[in-house]
Amino acid sequence: MGCPLSTIEPFNTLPSEITSELAARSLAIELPAERVLFHQGDPGDCLYIVLEGAVSVYSESEDGGRRQLTLLERGAVFGEMALLTGQPRSASVRTTTDVRLMGIRKTEFDRVVTAHPELVVALARTLSKHLNRVTADLSRAEASEKAYQRLLSEYYAGPQVPLVGRTKAITEVIAEAERLAGCSEPVLIGGAPGTEKRSVAWRIHQAGDKSSGPFVIFDPHQVHLGDASKVESTGGIASELAQDATLFGCPPGIIPSIKSGRMGLLQAADGGTLVIENIDSLQPAVQEKLAGYLETGTFPLADGQRRRSTARIIGLLSKDTGSSRPNLSERLLSEGFSKNRISVPTLARRKKDLALILDALVESLSKRLGKRITGVEQEAYQAVLAYDWPGNVEELDIVVRRAIKLTESEQIRAQDIFVGADEQGGPAVELLKQPEVKSLFLSRYFPSACQLLTGLALSAVVLFTIAGFWSTGTDLALVAVWGIGEPLFLISTLVVARLGCSFCPFGRLSSILSSTGLRRDPPNWLRRRGPYLAALGLGIILWAEVVTGMPHSPGPTVVLILSILLLAALAGLVFKRRTWCRFLCPLGNWVGSLATCSALELRGRTAVCNSDCASHVCYRGEPGQSGCPMFEGPFSLSENTDCILCADCIKVCPNNSPLVNLRLPAQELWKNRRLSAALPAFVPVMVATQLLRLSDHSGLLDPLRSLDASALILAGLTVLLWAGTLALAKGLSMIAARSTEHESTATEVVRPSTWLTSGASLLVGIAPLVVACELAYQFGALLGRGPEALGILDRLAGWDQLSGIVFLPWQVKAVELIVLSAGMGMTLIVERKLPKPRLRTPGIVGSMFLYLLFVGLVLLA
Ligand code: SF4
Ligand code: SF4
Repeated sequence: MGCPLSTIEPFNTLPSEITSELAARSLAIELPAERVLFHQGDPGDCLYIVLEGAVSVYSESEDGGRRQLTLLERGAVFGEMALLTGQPRSASVRTTTDVRLMGIRKTEFDRVVTAHPELVVALARTLSKHLNRVTADLSRAEASEKAYQRLLSEYYAGPQVPLVGRTKAITEVIAEAERLAGCSEPVLIGGAPGTEKRSVAWRIHQAGDKSSGPFVIFDPHQVHLGDASKVESTGGIASELAQDATLFGCPPGIIPSIKSGRMGLLQAADGGTLVIENIDSLQPAVQEKLAGYLETGTFPLADGQRRRSTARIIGLLSKDTGSSRPNLSERLLSEGFSKNRISVPTLARRKKDLALILDALVESLSKRLGKRITGVEQEAYQAVLAYDWPGNVEELDIVVRRAIKLTESEQIRAQDIFVGADEQGGPAVELLKQPEVKSLFLSRYFPSACQLLTGLALSAVVLFTIAGFWSTGTDLALVAVWGIGEPLFLISTLVVARLGCSFCPFGRLSSILSSTGLRRDPPNWLRRRGPYLAALGLGIILWAEVVTGMPHSPGPTVVLILSILLLAALAGLVFKRRTWCRFLCPLGNWVGSLATCSALELRGRTAVCNSDCASHVCYRGEPGQSGCPMFEGPFSLSENTDCILCADCIKVCPNNSPLVNLRLPAQELWKNRRLSAALPAFVPVMVATQLLRLSDHSGLLDPLRSLDASALILAGLTVLLWAGTLALAKGLSMIAARSTEHESTATEVVRPSTWLTSGASLLVGIAPLVVACELAYQFGALLGRGPEALGILDRLAGWDQLSGIVFLPWQVKAVELIVLSAGMGMTLIVERKLPKPRLRTPGIVGSMFLYLLFVGLVLLA
C-alpha cells in the first residue's frame, strides 16, 4: 500500500521522499465519537490529517456556548496554522464519528521542515487557500451567526422549573431521569398538560455529558414559514414544510417565503439537547425524517446535502398516554422512544409536595424576576393547598410569578395569590370591538356621571321618606325603592352583570372615604369569611323585609338605607379601595351571585396578562389611580361575582387585555375551574328566604302572624329554613365526595378539598333556578308597583293620563312563571354540563322538586 499522504493536498505536490519521511514520523490515532482533540487557546503541538470519519471545528464563547464552524471529513488537514505561526489554537476540534487520524508532532514537523523547507511553502499555499475561503465565508458566516443567535434567542431555553418533591410519584421520576442522563439515547416524556415535562428534560440535559451544550426547545405548534406572526397550526402541507424547515433547516432559494434560507434547530442544538414538545403533533413525513436522523446522526437538506448533528433528542408528548402507544410512527418508536419512557405525575397525585414546589418556585422565580422575596406567609400556603391545580405546575408557576410581581412586602401574601383564571372559550361577541362601546367605557365621565344621578335620586328618596314630605311623597319614595330601584338593580344583572354596583352611591361614598381614611388592607379573615358575612347580612335583611313589611313601611326602609350608608362609610374610613363592596355589602355580593347568570362578562386575555405584562397596573394602580377597586384584575377573573365593570382596568391596561364579552347566559357556571365562596354561600340563603317570602305572600304564614310573638316565630322559621338548606347541601356534598372517589382512577386521585367545595358544585347546578326565582319576584314587584309610581306622578302633576296603566294579577303571575321556567331550563343545561355524571339524576330530581315548590307557591300567592 502506498503512502496515504501521496493523495492528500498539499502533500500530493511534494516529492515522495518528503511524504514518506513525514508518514514515518507520524502517529496513528484512533478515537471514538465525541472526543475533544484540542480546545481553542491550547498551544499548537500537532498537525492532523483525517484518514477516516469526521471532526467538527467549533468556536467556544465565554459563557460556555458552542458554535460549529465547519465539519472536516476524509483528506482534510487541520492544526497546521498553530504549527506555522506558533500562536495558540484558534478553534476547538471534536470528533463527531469514530475517526482514524494521522498526527505529526511539532518536534517531528520542525525536523522535516528544517531538511525540506518546500514543505512550508506547500503548507503556506494550503493556508492561503484556507484564508481565501475563510474571507469569502466570513460574510456568509456573519449572516449565519446572526441567524444562529436569532434562532437561539427564539428557541433556547434556560433552566426550567426545579424538579422537587418527596412523594414516591416524583422521586421515581427523578431517579429515572438521572439514570437516562447517563446515555445519549432519545427519551420520550409523557404527562398531563402543565406537568413538569420540560423540567424532567432539563434534569436529563443537566446531569448528562451534554450539559455545556445548548438546551433548545421546539414546539411543532409554533412554526412559521417566514412571517413569525403567521403560525402554521392547521396541519397539512404548509405545516409539514414549516416543521421541516424549522427542525432541519432550509437552504436559500428552496422555499420562496424564506429566501435567504434558515438554519435548522438540529444544527443549532449540536452538542446539546433538542427537546421536541408535542412530538405527537409532528407531521408523519417529519417523524420519518427524524427517525432517519436518530438512526444515522445525519439528516438531508432540501438541496440534497447531508448534515451531521450530535444533538440529543427528548420528545414530550402532549398528553398522558399511560402505558398505551403514543401517536408516533413505528420507526420513530423503534429508534429508542419506546424503550426510554418517563411519565410525569399530576399535582393532584402529589399534593403533599405542593409546599416544597411553592418554595422552590418562589426562590427560583424571585431571582429571575430580580425581586427580594424571603418566604411565603402561612395563609398563602393555605390558599395554594386549598386548590386542586388542574393546570399542574405550569398553572402554579404563572400564579407564583404574578404573586412575586404583585407583592408589596418581602413575603408572598394570601392576597397576592390569584388562582383559577383561565381562557374559558365558548361562544362570545367582543363588545369592545364596537367603537361606540369602547368610547363609552373609555369616557372619563363613565361611571362617575351615573353615580352622580343615582346619588341624587337616593338623597331625594331618603329626604322624602324621612320628612314624610306629604303622604303621596312618602308613597312615591317607597315605590321608587321597592317597585323600581331594587327590581331594576337586580333584573339588570341578567344583561349587564354587576354594572349596577358601579353606579351605587354607597360604594362611591365608601371609595371616596377610603382615599382619606386609614387605608388598611382588608385582613385575611375578612377576605375568607366576607362572603359568609354578606350572605348572613342578606338573610337578615330579607327576613326583616318579611317581618316588618318593609316594602310598605317608610320607617324600616329608612333604617335599612341609613344602616347601609353608615356601614359603607365606616368600611371606607378604615380600609383601602372598595373593601365594603367586595367583602361586606350584602346587596353587592347578592348582585354578584345573580351576575353569574348574566349574558355579559369582563375578562382578561390570560395569555397576554400572564406573559406580556410586567406592570399589572390594572391591579396595582398608578399615580392618581388606586387600581382595581375590587382587589381583582382582568387576569384573575373567571366569574362575574366580583367585577363591577367600572372600566378602570380598560382605561389603564397598556396591553389592551380586558375584553367585554356578550356570551351565553350562565356560561361561567360550567366553564369555571374554581368556585368563589360567594355563590355557595348565597344559594342556600336565597332558597330559604325565597321560600319564606313566597309562603308569606301565599298566606301560609297568616296563622303565625296572628300570634303575639310573630316576629320571633318568623325568625325561628327563617333559621330553620337556612339550617334545612345547609343540611341538604351538606348531604349532597357527602354523596358528591363518595361519587368522586368512585370515579377516580389509580393515576388521577382527585378529592374535593372541603365539604363546601364538593357540595358547592351541586349548588351551582340549581343556581339558575334560584336566580330566576329572585328575578321572577322582582319582575312581579316592577309590574305590580311600577305603575303605582306613574299614578302618583300623575296625581302630583295633575295630568290624569297615566293612572290607567296597570297589570292584572294573572299577567304578573304569567311573567313570573315564564321567568321561573326559563331558570329551570337553564338549570337543566348547567346540570348536564357540570362534570359530575353520577350526580346528574339526583341533581335534576332535586331541582325539579324545588321548581314545582316555587311554582306552587307563586300560584297560591
Ligand atoms: S389587564 Fe392589562 S395591566 Fe392588567 S395584568 Fe392584564 S395586561 Fe397587565
Ligand atoms: S376588574 Fe376592571 S372593571 Fe372589574 S372591577 Fe376591577 S377594574 Fe373594574
